[in-house]
Amino acid sequence: MANARLSCCITFDFDGMSSWIGSMKSNNPSMISRGQFGAVAVPRLLDLLDNFRIKATFAVPDHTAYAYPKLVERIRDHGHELAHHGWVHENPAAFDADGERRVLEQGLEALERVAGIKPTGYRSPAWDLSPRSIDLLREYGFIYESSCMGHDFYPYYLRSGDRWSLDTAYHFGVTVDLVEMPVTWMLDDFPPAEFVLGMNTGLQAPSLIEENWRADFDYAYRSCAGGVFILTLHPQTIARGRYFLMLERLLAYFASHPEVVFETMGDYAARWRAANPLAAWVTANPDLAGTHAIEP
Ligand SMILES: [Zn+2]
Repeated sequence: MANARLSCCITFDFDGMSSWIGSMKSNNPSMISRGQFGAVAVPRLLDLLDNFRIKATFAVPDHTAYAYPKLVERIRDHGHELAHHGWVHENPAAFDADGERRVLEQGLEALERVAGIKPTGYRSPAWDLSPRSIDLLREYGFIYESSCMGHDFYPYYLRSGDRWSLDTAYHFGVTVDLVEMPVTWMLDDFPPAEFVLGMNTGLQAPSLIEENWRADFDYAYRSCAGGVFILTLHPQTIARGRYFLMLERLLAYFASHPEVVFETMGDYAARWRAANPLAAWVTANPDLAGTHAIEP
């Protein structure tokens, strides 16, 4: 793994019904049933991952873990990583400090009860964070976070205590020992594939999505040695016919490249953290760490 030219982390946000209830605030059984398709999708995806001998990362809200404990056990038993993904796909910033802490604890308890694991990774629902989230994740011992977009194909360390306003210079806080596994909407299936009236056009042709994702992979493979290519997928979206076939083709394409490995975000983050001690990384990356900044 250490000599891989590019690592691929195939990640699934197994939201089930939670995203429609939590993020969309839906009270509509039809809309909520779209999440139920996730239960059909997961076994299909587990078979696909097995065929390619891929270990993936599944981010699972507690709401989904309690609804589908047997599926979550199967994900674990297939050797995939489970990551924290909130309670019912809520925005952590919608809570006060106590509420955010409570939701984080509920998520840890659910994964412990259902799967007997303590996750090392966190991905926030809809990639929303509160200004407190990074400190909380450190307090609870997480090694990595995967909701920020400050790099494309390399991880970086997050900061605690950043402050901003409309009339002051940006204040960089202190770089802390929490690895960011960066994401981007450009490598997420939800915007291009999932139709949501008034919000997402979705329904894009697989050929178009496939072209976009292959181009990003090609860039990462050519220019980002030792980096990581992270795809964010949703079982209820990517496992439907046309998109499932697209995913099969993409995995075969990625796998056809020499020195490409597939691994979980947890494995990559732990290895990267060991190879990039915090203090040395800050010295080598002053703009990412904010140590070059001027505050008038
Ligand atoms: Zn999600």
